[in-house]
Amino acid sequence: MRAIRVQQFGAPEVMRVEDVESVPLGPGQVRVLVRAAGVNPVDTYIRGGQYGALPELPYTPGFDAAGEVVEVSPLDAKGMGWPRLGQRVWVGKRGREGTYASEVVCQPEQLHPLPDRLSFEEGAGVYVACCTAWRAIFGKAMAKPGETILIHGASGGVGLAAVQLARAAGLGVIGTAGTKEGLDAVMAAGAHAAVNHRVSGYEAEIRETLTRAWFGHARPRGEIGSAGIDIVLENLANVNLQRDLDLIAPRGRVVVVGNRGALEFNPRAAMGKEATIMGMSLMNMTAAEEATTYAGVQAALDAGALKPVVGAVLPLAEASEAHRRVMAGGHVGKIVLTP
Ligand code: NAP
Repeated sequence: MRAIRVQQFGAPEVMRVEDVESVPLGPGQVRVLVRAAGVNPVDTYIRGGQYGALPELPYTPGFDAAGEVVEVSPLDAKGMGWPRLGQRVWVGKRGREGTYASEVVCQPEQLHPLPDRLSFEEGAGVYVACCTAWRAIFGKAMAKPGETILIHGASGGVGLAAVQLARAAGLGVIGTAGTKEGLDAVMAAGAHAAVNHRVSGYEAEIRETLTRAWFGHARPRGEIGSAGIDIVLENLANVNLQRDLDLIAPRGRVVVVGNRGALEFNPRAAMGKEATIMGMSLMNMTAAEEATTYAGVQAALDAGALKPVVGAVLPLAEASEAHRRVMAGGHVGKIVLTP
């Protein structure tokens, strides 16, 4: 099989395609033919050696994939008949042998059915982005229909999934992006309003959107938007956290999903509004939280409420270009590799 192997941490070019031996399946394991592998910002932090938990070298990057089951160990899935040979699946795989490869060996619990309406490329955008969005909105912020959510950084993988999920759950959704293409994608995903976070003073535009009657009826707690934003899903906290606290309603919640540095922050804003700031890391999920998150994401995929947006598809050999693009900003949705 072919796989990207990283022999040393460093620049994107350390990722090279190599021919590697297929490993035999262990008891209960499943082999998946990878048809598409998803690229995430975290893949670049790990490849660069700048992440807290680094794999032993050499390793194959990638947490996300979609493909077909091509081999099932005789002791398959604890006798439950799952997964079946030939089944289309989306994959969420952790560990040293990642998904940037033509095949991956998985535990059955790392596989989930890929609905027929989704392509393999779309399926490769489910695990990290959609599970992060679902867990931030429902697992952490405990969002309720009728609340307003600001998705700060809504045009990327996490953001577009969050827009779709929040809209389907009955929230008022404002998303931000930094390009015209990104703003269009945010609206197409179902946002009530899209605002450009690269325009100075864009907070005023966010406040203005709160005066509009998005829901066609009054908010349960009074005037639409009179109190501000109930929830912020924050994808760049070091830039935006102070701004989030200025925009948020009393007793609002901010979920920090993405952060790339430090900031000077006045906690008075949180104190005065009795706001809650929560951190969220997908990799911290307990088994029970995983079960809840996967069930929520799968239900949204099955119902057609959630469909990852694929912005670019590149061959596996161009993984280094994919890493440059995901960190450059301005891309829309997921970047996907095909082996
Ligand atoms: P992505 O696809 O690269 O999207 C990044 C998003 O951030 C884009 O919408 C981008 O918009 C936006 N952005 C750029 N500048 C911004 C600004 N000043 N204010 C607000 N947004 C801004 O990345 P992703 O996969 O969606 O992930 C988003 C972040 O969450 C990354 O930092 C990632 O590492 C992190 N993450 C964390 C977890 C976790 O478990 N905590 C899981 C997944 C991802 P434009 O490019 O249009 O400006």
